[in-house]
Amino acid sequence: TRPVVAIIGRPNVGKSTLVNRVIGRREAVVEDVPGVTRDRVAYDGEWSGRRFTLVDTGGWEIDAQGIHLRVAEQAEVAIDLADAVLFVVDATVGATDADEAVVKLLRRSKKPVVLVANKVDDQRTEADAAMLWSLGLGQPWPVSALHGRGTGDALDALLDVL
Ligand code: GDP
Ligand code: MG
Repeated sequence: TRPVVAIIGRPNVGKSTLVNRVIGRREAVVEDVPGVTRDRVAYDGEWSGRRFTLVDTGGWEIDAQGIHLRVAEQAEVAIDLADAVLFVVDATVGATDADEAVVKLLRRSKKPVVLVANKVDDQRTEADAAMLWSLGLGQPWPVSALHGRGTGDALDALLDVL
């Protein structure tokens, strides 16, 4: 059976955009506003001939209030079900308290994690990605889910831990 890869992160960091990038279609619903999404949850993904199931946690982003707690709760469920995690952070915003809370869950879970520093659309933003070393999850992979920049390297890193 295929390994399960959970894509977790705060609302609006680009999780669904990354799903679409990986599956090569626009099936996951991308929202400009954090909050309710109509995302399907599971997708068939493939990279370098390896198949896996991608789980987009976007469908569980139900309310914008108390987002800190909700994100942690959603993340916990997704992490439990996953063989590996793509943890997406918006590099242009940097790590927030909610991100730090997820890091604690990830540490406790001992699941393999690939840290995706998203919205690195150009060279100038690479320094923002490097700031995310501070999360203690190893190398932040600078990615632009929107334009495809860096996604191949991040997926190679995923296959290495899968
Ligand atoms: P999700 O809530 O984490 O699933 O985030 P979405 O995929 O719905 O994206 C939220 C917003 O961020 C949308 O307006 C996207 O177009 C935008 N976005 C996603 N990835 C990128 C990126 O790599 N660069 C930029 N500039 N915007 C992005
Ligand atoms: Mg989403």
